Amino acid sequence: MKIYIALLLFLGSLQLHAGNEPVDSTITKPAKKFTVVLDAGHGGKDPGKLVSSVREKDIALKVVKYLGKELEDHTDIEIVYTRTTDKFLELYQRADIANKAKADLFISVHCNAAASRSAKGNETWVLGLHRNADNLEVVKRENAVILLEEDYEEKYAGFDPNDPASFASNLIVQEEYLDNSIEMASKVQSNFEADLKRKNRGVKQAGFAVLRLSYMPSVLIETGFITNAEERKFLSSSTGQKKVAHAIYDAVIKYKANRSLNDFVIEDITDLSETVESNNTIYKVQIAASKNKIEAKSYNFKKLPSISREQEGAIYRYFTGSFNDLKKAQDLQKKAVKLGYKSAFIVKYENGERSRL
Ligand SMILES: [Zn+2]
Repeated sequence: MKIYIALLLFLGSLQLHAGNEPVDSTITKPAKKFTVVLDAGHGGKDPGKLVSSVREKDIALKVVKYLGKELEDHTDIEIVYTRTTDKFLELYQRADIANKAKADLFISVHCNAAASRSAKGNETWVLGLHRNADNLEVVKRENAVILLEEDYEEKYAGFDPNDPASFASNLIVQEEYLDNSIEMASKVQSNFEADLKRKNRGVKQAGFAVLRLSYMPSVLIETGFITNAEERKFLSSSTGQKKVAHAIYDAVIKYKANRSLNDFVIEDITDLSETVESNNTIYKVQIAASKNKIEAKSYNFKKLPSISREQEGAIYRYFTGSFNDLKKAQDLQKKAVKLGYKSAFIVKYENGERSRL
């Protein structure tokens, strides 16, 4: 019995150790490679949009493969594919693959379709709750695949594929990544416009299931309209697919460069730590939320002072500083933003209750 308990303790400590590794490179020193999940939309029994024997699922897969090939040259990037063949994958499985890989970025590649043959250009989607009628149509189309899945009611409990407003549960988590998702989406859009001379239909927000279920910055790219003869020809050609892949590739590289801000040094930051009276109101700066448990050490967070961690369900929240003086918290928030924690915000503790300022 004793041996058994000792073994359990030993295994437990091993696990604890593994759990403490600084694995999330968006918020720590990149101890692991920058991981990008490439998701070719649709597949197998779900062809996606289909016009004149051109199938969305084939274009998506080819673009993703060209994109992966270009990214493979970077030894500091790890690529994970949701599919490399013409197979059917449920939406939650795609998000699962990304979550298990603890990916830094999720990219889903699609093609658009419209009743009007003149509709053209590309757009990139990030998760949002905007209930705009146009958006709702796109969401219905891309989420419709859920209805092909067996037991979808169980797997997407409380989720109506036709109603983006039913998604609220995971939104708080995705909100943490929204700034980064928008940054990536904007880079994709400007590359398509500048390099491919495509009409820029903008960065848009809607409740795509595949974006909602993944816990990382995530974008869904509509690379063009296969209902438009010119774009269909372009997207079906290997030249076009390579160009599209390259535009996305370039956005990934630029996005990644912005995440590597770890070498910043700030000199006067130690002055910002102070002893606080815990019976008073306390202010902290929230810098990150992640599924990854990271040691609450300054070196894991770009040398920001007094790091603390709180668990809430499956999510860990990370804070810097601890002040009775709001002004000091605001100064530290500004520094955190400068260091790359763009969505850092102040939280207030009163009578043991945390609230966002
Ligand atoms: Zn699609």
